[in-house]
Amino acid sequence: MKTAFEGVVLSSISYKEKSKIVYLYTPNGMESILVPNGASVSSNRLGFTTTLNRVSYSKTSSAYPKLIEYSVLEQFYDFHQDLEKIQIAMIMIQVIKALEEDAPHHRIYPFWIQCLNLLKKRNPLYVLSLFLCKMLAVFGVRPEFESCVRCGNREIVNFSIVEGGSLCRFCSTVSEENTELKNALRLLYNHKEYEKVLDLDDTKILTSLYEYYQIHVHLTLKPYHIDLQ
Ligand SMILES: [Zn+2]
Repeated sequence: MKTAFEGVVLSSISYKEKSKIVYLYTPNGMESILVPNGASVSSNRLGFTTTLNRVSYSKTSSAYPKLIEYSVLEQFYDFHQDLEKIQIAMIMIQVIKALEEDAPHHRIYPFWIQCLNLLKKRNPLYVLSLFLCKMLAVFGVRPEFESCVRCGNREIVNFSIVEGGSLCRFCSTVSEENTELKNALRLLYNHKEYEKVLDLDDTKILTSLYEYYQIHVHLTLKPYHIDLQ
């Protein structure tokens, strides 16, 4: 009896003569599987598609597992038909690839699948903001929304991306009170009904999240604007 596993194919590389190694993200984390030369035609196409695929697969139980068979469970976006969505999906993959080996993949994987499905029908910038904001927690850099990051005071007047959270009036160096960004990020971070798009300035939030990832996750995310020129 073969055990069936599940994962999303992220990429593949050629390996020796006509074999290849396929990289998948699964509920157990990253997995690389050897697709040997001589595997069936359908297996040989694994990783060479132009869509992002969620697949079911079986493998040998060796230290370097080989693919036995696979089937496509779900397809996300054709590279040639939906450049904007595939671009957003690629940024998500960049984040997924940056995860620690011991990250809570069993929770991250279903959340990512949910986001990929959301991307089919909702504004891509909203989906990306939601994904990036929620994922901050698994990198251990959740923004502090409720109290001042320096002194713990709960009367918040400002929010600092550099410091990773809120600042009270004693610690804030900016004279103008600005809790708008904090409120927007907190709303998104605590958002649960993903289907319901929040009325937020996605571009402004994304700019902040990109900066947040740069400083706290040490990850320079790929730009999300397509320039076809
Ligand atoms: Zn303070």
